[in-house]
Amino acid sequence: MMDVEGYRLHSWGGEPQWETFVVPTPGPGEVGVEVEACGVGLTVLNCMNGDLDNDESLLPLTPGHEMVGRVVELGEGVTSLAVGERVVAYFYLSCWRCRACLSGRESRCERLAGWYGVHRDGGYAPMTVLPAGNAVLVPEGIDAAAATAIPDAIATPVHVCHTRLGLRPGDRVAVIGAGGGVGIHMLQVASAYGASVAGLERGERKLEVIERFGGIPLDSTDFSAVKLSDFGGEADAVIDLVGTPQSLAWGFEHLATGGRLCVLTTFRDVELRVDPRELVFRESSVIGSRYASRSELLEAAALVQSGRVTPVIGATAAPADVGDLHEELRAGNLDGRGALVWTGS
Ligand SMILES: [Zn+2]
Repeated sequence: MMDVEGYRLHSWGGEPQWETFVVPTPGPGEVGVEVEACGVGLTVLNCMNGDLDNDESLLPLTPGHEMVGRVVELGEGVTSLAVGERVVAYFYLSCWRCRACLSGRESRCERLAGWYGVHRDGGYAPMTVLPAGNAVLVPEGIDAAAATAIPDAIATPVHVCHTRLGLRPGDRVAVIGAGGGVGIHMLQVASAYGASVAGLERGERKLEVIERFGGIPLDSTDFSAVKLSDFGGEADAVIDLVGTPQSLAWGFEHLATGGRLCVLTTFRDVELRVDPRELVFRESSVIGSRYASRSELLEAAALVQSGRVTPVIGATAAPADVGDLHEELRAGNLDGRGALVWTGS
């Protein structure tokens, strides 16, 4: 056990408070990690709003799931990690024993115990304790703030582009919301697997970021005006990170024959009308994609280490200043993602 200064969330939908609290000693099968940095993106805000779970018994809670740090203490029975090793957190508290887990599809775990940073304390503190299975090795030499993009913002696109869509060189891909914190990495990962990528966004600033990272920027302020004719034809895959009725309908309508619409948003009460006749004649697919596996976290790290994907961290915050990042994020002023930096690397 040790006293630390960090963040605690006391009410769902509230801002986390900076305070002193106790981080426990790692129990059997757990590891203690000194946090280098923790990512700040829309998913953290959604978690703090109670979007994944809003049970009062989970409070107070230290949020933050995109954690990178160094193992400093091993709980009883942990042999898979050593003190001093650098790790990132795997978001899902999977069981590691069910059919899904054993087949390397841990985000489909049949006995999911929740999420790191929701059902147990996360990385908005200088010290954290997590199950050893949730600590995935990450290479040395990647800047701490940049490494926070690996376990979600880049691993999620790896799952989409490699595993769900099997993108190949020459595929035409449209990413809806390509200027956002996951979108700008989705664009890069799709390119890394050989696809040509068009990025749909609103606003000059985000369209510029898309161009800077090699995408063809398309202004989607009005979806009815967005055409893919300059792109060489309709899309082999559309990846929708926006998830409105308009964006989903546009995505389905702009698939090439054999094309696939991949959905990642989880908003309630949104409907997509799919005409079975169209589905058959154009042999289209509509698929969902849910997070990533631990091996995809390794793949995400390899893409970063080889320079094929550049983590886009628009701003970093010192430990006591994360509130500023939350405001920037809510206002849509952040390029890519933010990171709360505890120690640097
Ligand atoms: Zn499982």
